[in-house]
Amino acid sequence: MEAGFIWNVAAETMPREELRALQSQRLAALVRRVYEHVPFYRQRMDAHGVTPASVQSLDDLPLLPFTRKQDLRDNYPFGLLAVPREQVARIQASSGTRGKLTVAAYTHDDISDWAECCARAIALAGGRPGDVLQCAYGYGLFTGGLGLHYGGERFGATVIPMSGGNTLRQVMMLRDLQSHILCCTPSYALIIGEILEKEGLTTADIALRVGIFGAEPWTEEMRTEIEARLGLRATDIYGLTEVVGPGVANECCVARNGLHIAEDFFLAEVIDPETGAPVPDGTYGELVFTTLTKQAMPVVRYRTGDISAILPGECICGRTTRRMARLRGRYDDMLILHGVNVYPSEIEATLLGFEEIAPFYQIVLDWNGRTETIAVQAEMTSAYAVDAVDADVRMLSEQIARLLKSRFDLTMQVSLHQPGELGRVEVGKAVRVIDRRRSG
Ligand SMILES: [Zn+2]
Repeated sequence: MEAGFIWNVAAETMPREELRALQSQRLAALVRRVYEHVPFYRQRMDAHGVTPASVQSLDDLPLLPFTRKQDLRDNYPFGLLAVPREQVARIQASSGTRGKLTVAAYTHDDISDWAECCARAIALAGGRPGDVLQCAYGYGLFTGGLGLHYGGERFGATVIPMSGGNTLRQVMMLRDLQSHILCCTPSYALIIGEILEKEGLTTADIALRVGIFGAEPWTEEMRTEIEARLGLRATDIYGLTEVVGPGVANECCVARNGLHIAEDFFLAEVIDPETGAPVPDGTYGELVFTTLTKQAMPVVRYRTGDISAILPGECICGRTTRRMARLRGRYDDMLILHGVNVYPSEIEATLLGFEEIAPFYQIVLDWNGRTETIAVQAEMTSAYAVDAVDADVRMLSEQIARLLKSRFDLTMQVSLHQPGELGRVEVGKAVRVIDRRRSG
């Protein structure tokens, strides 16, 4: 593996002390800006007895109160703007669980910084200027499509704005335009792989080399599946609308051990989600971000709800930026089943440990009147399903149920399905959990 191309050597290999000084200076300026221009932050800081003058360096960060998703909802749509609305060049949004959108606003400079972050991400993933980049994230209010689109153009790629869906046409473009880079959700990458195979094509017919996959938590097992189907090297991208969109962090293709955070733009902390206290490097907790340069709608100590850790030590790729561990899940996604905490990604890892199981599955939670029930539905691979008789399938499902029981101490009903039997989500995020416990 070559050492890898670094997009912005000055920013990404900056000595740590220098980076820290830059972050301190930007943090102090941010706090002055939001205190002056955003009544919400001024009131919060006043209530906590914090003045802009009291925040001079990173050491003062814990003085600042957290910002929560609810604060964004309460100030919908423009209450958190730090510039006049007329200076906002673009609006993006993410759909919340309760129907209300979370709005993000960008000035021209914000859009430019975001493109810079995504260009770094493309280089981190192994892209080279001149590559053909197929952007199969959704365009529109969702940040995935336009974020990587602008990043790809900044990077010097030939960008194909496919958006999500229409998988047959995605495959046609992969073949006809010989795309090198594919950007989409990991679950959609699998669907593209599936259609590729159905069309009688193999990885020899396409030129994919690099995958930039995110917007959903995914596992190493899923990575192996995607790489086998598409013949590329898959990396994990992280971001969220409230902070900017994709490009906050990306794995480097050299080490693939954690996602390098664009730390000159985003200040990362990991806290204990219950107490709010910072946790040591290497310990999992809730990710908190402060945007250091954003003008239109900066956030101060925003609690993301995402569970990760800051990895200790330096990376072999030459970058000095700190790395965050692959997401374990969203705090909100954590299932509490019979009092046991389980992330859907942990069930996924167990399922995909079986080579007979394809990476399409659903977890259905229900209530039978006395107790909650957990059903795990998974598809078998075509290679296995073609020869398997009922007795084999029964034995395999029992084996999986036993392993799930031993790992989580929970009884789950495992049912195995024929290839293609479970639904496919071509646009947006995959639906992994169906919770009928409260609706019944
Ligand atoms: Zn690295």
